[in-house]
Amino acid sequence: MAYRIHASDRTAFKRCRREWDLSSRNRRNLEPVSSPGPIDLTQAVRDALAVYYFPGMWEWDRSIVSPLVHQALDRSVRGQAKAVTGDGVDDQALQETLDRGRALLNAYAAWAPTVDHFTPIRVDTDFEANISDPATPGSNLVTPAGDEVRYCDRVDLLAIDSDDAYWVIQHRLVTNGWADHDALQLDERTIAWCWAWPQFYLGMQITGTVYNEIHADAGDVGASATHPARHQQVHHRRMYARPGTVSGERLHAEGTDDFRRTLIRRGEAELAAAGADLAAEVSAAASTDLDIYPSPERGICARCSYRPPCVILNQGEDATAELSKSYRHRPPEPVQEGRLGGVTWSMNRGAAPPRWPIK
Ligand code: SF4
Repeated sequence: MAYRIHASDRTAFKRCRREWDLSSRNRRNLEPVSSPGPIDLTQAVRDALAVYYFPGMWEWDRSIVSPLVHQALDRSVRGQAKAVTGDGVDDQALQETLDRGRALLNAYAAWAPTVDHFTPIRVDTDFEANISDPATPGSNLVTPAGDEVRYCDRVDLLAIDSDDAYWVIQHRLVTNGWADHDALQLDERTIAWCWAWPQFYLGMQITGTVYNEIHADAGDVGASATHPARHQQVHHRRMYARPGTVSGERLHAEGTDDFRRTLIRRGEAELAAAGADLAAEVSAAASTDLDIYPSPERGICARCSYRPPCVILNQGEDATAELSKSYRHRPPEPVQEGRLGGVTWSMNRGAAPPRWPIK
């Protein structure tokens, strides 16, 4: 058996232990009976960009790829809309979301080639990494029950530049201003990608993180799409397991009012510290004598799905009835046939994309 801690689990553990205790697959594993909220355009754009950057199609004419990118957006938006129960998503809201997404992707396709100084290697790829035990050098962390601990997450995009340096890239849809540079420097999820990847793909060191920020208002709805720009051909020497370099500017940002690309190099000491922090947090989360308590804070509680039982528990009462009525055990994660990054097919240059499920 393995004790898997996902990046979202780690975030929840640090945000509010009560919320984490109720929601985590490693704890009570409850989810609200009511459906998820409105359509997540961020997820839909990520799904579309997984096709845009699909390695097998990277050298295809962009006018062939562009309709496939839009199809991926449609598939994601309509799939999410189907999952909404209750009043559902009305047709107008669905169409508005699709129009916004298409406008944004058209504008992105005109801009991205000016900053895509790399070749994509993997998109939307899941990984699992063992965590070294700081107390026992050479050993991996195990739970008190002896289960191996694994850290899990999904990398949006892995790419290689002309210096044979590997980068992990995160797509972000931004509704307000760009992220503060310090917040990006401290972003533990993507630092953990850099730390974990060389363990998943032995020896493939990551040079740093790239934040691909896209403003949600980018592009004009209704404007006809221009012919998508050709991306640059970036020639690299090898495809695998070359140590990354950390020389050069630590942080570099460029962009427009609608898009920003920020590169941050991550050094060995930074990644080692990230691994040690992760080990300490996971040791605490997996311990048998962990205290569970709420961490009420307006910004955190506002988006929490466990407020009703939390209020009951805060009054010192039994929340069992509320949990039975409004929550259910989360089923195992479904295997998504044909998901990009599921990696049972070749993703190298020239490889055809998988057959996506037909909705
Ligand atoms: S409502 Fe707030 S305090 Fe309660 S579980 Fe949710 S996040 Fe934690």
